[in-house]
Amino acid sequence: MAETDKEVRYLKGVGEARAKALGKLGIHTLRDLIVYFPRSYEDRTQFSPIMAAPLDTPVCIRAMVANTPTLARVKRGMHLVKLRAVDESGSVDITYFNQTWIRDQLKPGETYIFYGKLSGTLTHRSMANPDWEPEVREGQKTGRILPKYPLCSGVSNKQLMGYIRTALDVSQGDVPDSLPERIREQFGLVQARYAYENIHFPADYGALELARRRLIFEELFILGCAMGRLRGARQGLTGALIPARDMSEFYAALPFVPTGAQRRAVHDALDDMASGRPMNRLVQGDVGSGKTLVAAACAWAICAAGKQTAFMAPTEILAEQHLETLRGFTAVFGLRVEKLTGSMTAKEKRETKAALAAGEIDIIVGTHALITGDVEFSDLGLVITDEQHRFGVNQRSALAAKSQTPHVLVMSATPIPRTLALIIYGDLDVSVIDELPPGRQKVDTFTVDESYRTRLYGFIEKLVAEGRQVFVVCPMVEENEEYDPSLKSAVEHAQELSAAFPSLNVGCIHGKMKARDKDAVMADTLAGKINILVSTTVIEVGVDVPNAALMVIENAERFGLSQLHQLRGRVGRGQFKSWCILISNATNKEARQRLQAMCDTNDGFKISEEDLRLRGPGDFFGQRQHGLPEMHIADLCGDMSTLQTAQEAAKQLLARDPALAMPENARLAAQVDRLLENSLGAIS
Ligand code: ADP
Ligand code: MG
Repeated sequence: MAETDKEVRYLKGVGEARAKALGKLGIHTLRDLIVYFPRSYEDRTQFSPIMAAPLDTPVCIRAMVANTPTLARVKRGMHLVKLRAVDESGSVDITYFNQTWIRDQLKPGETYIFYGKLSGTLTHRSMANPDWEPEVREGQKTGRILPKYPLCSGVSNKQLMGYIRTALDVSQGDVPDSLPERIREQFGLVQARYAYENIHFPADYGALELARRRLIFEELFILGCAMGRLRGARQGLTGALIPARDMSEFYAALPFVPTGAQRRAVHDALDDMASGRPMNRLVQGDVGSGKTLVAAACAWAICAAGKQTAFMAPTEILAEQHLETLRGFTAVFGLRVEKLTGSMTAKEKRETKAALAAGEIDIIVGTHALITGDVEFSDLGLVITDEQHRFGVNQRSALAAKSQTPHVLVMSATPIPRTLALIIYGDLDVSVIDELPPGRQKVDTFTVDESYRTRLYGFIEKLVAEGRQVFVVCPMVEENEEYDPSLKSAVEHAQELSAAFPSLNVGCIHGKMKARDKDAVMADTLAGKINILVSTTVIEVGVDVPNAALMVIENAERFGLSQLHQLRGRVGRGQFKSWCILISNATNKEARQRLQAMCDTNDGFKISEEDLRLRGPGDFFGQRQHGLPEMHIADLCGDMSTLQTAQEAAKQLLARDPALAMPENARLAAQVDRLLENSLGAIS
């Protein structure tokens, strides 16, 4: 057994309780200790003479204890050790609270290093509770860069440092190392041993940087290899060969001319489907970029090859809408498009399923009901999922498992910065629709507070008089949330608006309604019967009402930036000039910045970058949902350029050794397998 496989219990000073505490930090073996990275570092390398030291900045001073430390009891239960220390520049009064033992440890006439903040005046200096060590032992606690570890109760930073030191020492260079030598040299990275030593106990900041660079690269490289393996595994599969088709017949039947970006995405997909391998493509495009058309075009090509398409939407409202859209696009070709949703009667479902199994239905649109166990297809050729971020990865694979290896097309409006998409969708091919249909106007966006309400109502009145429709979105009020009169629930707010606009038709839609009732309200909205539609975020994704020209968002500070962008995307979809009014009384800086970003740009990618900046990568659209593994040291958003290099390196290596079977890649292969097993399995 390798030294590093030994359990932490083997370490001196680690008993049952300590081992348990370490376990809580995920540390079980010496190896775990070695890869338990500091969260931050404390710079204890700066020394200064007492009188020259900056005040209130931590610094090391080298000083001799000038007197026998005294012990005083200031209050009940509060003891003070006092002493004076001197160097050639002057003296400092040092105090320790409730650390009586220090009185006997600091010996007059001996020199120590004290690390802490100096305070005082020009002539008198003092220091409270400085960390210290005798000059002869300098370099353990002072005069160095000190690692700071994430801790839990039962383990101190000092203890962890000690255990990690020992683990590094006994490992004798047998540290986790999965970078093949060749790659390490090619990218000018330091050796594993050096990296682990210096990530914990950096000799200086230069060494720390080298260590970080290597470890981040390694982590992203393993991720890149794992993603590459997934992609490779797919390439071993065969998919139904759908002969490439001339799409002009389909395009000619559309009510508009497809954009160049739409055509490119369609052709990418057709190429995939004609390749003999199963397609696994993501179509990414900002709200309103026209992704549905791409999906419809692919479905049409599949039907022409005599196969069926399953089209999954995240909500019934969207399923309903896609049904109408697809019927519209394909009517002239005589395709049969049906839906299968949870709210249909048992009889309707039964009949639809029978028709599906008999191959009478060409395109089936639905929600999760589509993936319940008993839905059978006669010949499923293509699975499309819309707004993929709402679907768990597992659900996607469940549907994909319905037929042997259907082609898969995933559509998403989550505007992920390009490079990040590379990783997140590393097992997918990506087409980006980077062009909006012509004639789209910018949605003018304003942030206002409550005092604007009267004017807002005047504006609504005017727009409705011109024949337009208005969306009003209220935040979801959680049931367990404390009552806050400034928070508007959709239902209450709809009542208010009905009272304010007695002659207008105000509709309301929220998550608690029966799907059937939601459908009815949505149908009325599409038919133009509803002037003002109040809703919760149920309309966030995908809903397309070209006649809507105003989006009002109440308590806008309660929404995330990307969510606001999605909501705004519900207007400005037709030929009408459109507006988005964000109502918020929030004064905190972060909220103001978010709302300001909305007013500044309509570009989903810029917004997502801003979102990332404001919220930090951790919060950014829950990585876990994408089945992405947690990174130890790399920051998937911050280490962008390394990410790209590491991806590229992984690709090169896999080109040489697709199965990672070469002996020089054995350690890497083990790491990649571990990653695939632990966190990525669901994606494949
Ligand atoms: P999203 O990408 O947000 O799903 P949709 O597919 O719902 O966008 O399309 C948004 C709107 O733009 C729809 O009303 C659709 O009919 C229209 N549209 C799509 N493509 C074009 C085009 N090439 N020219 C004009 N309008 C288009
Ligand atoms: Mg859509």
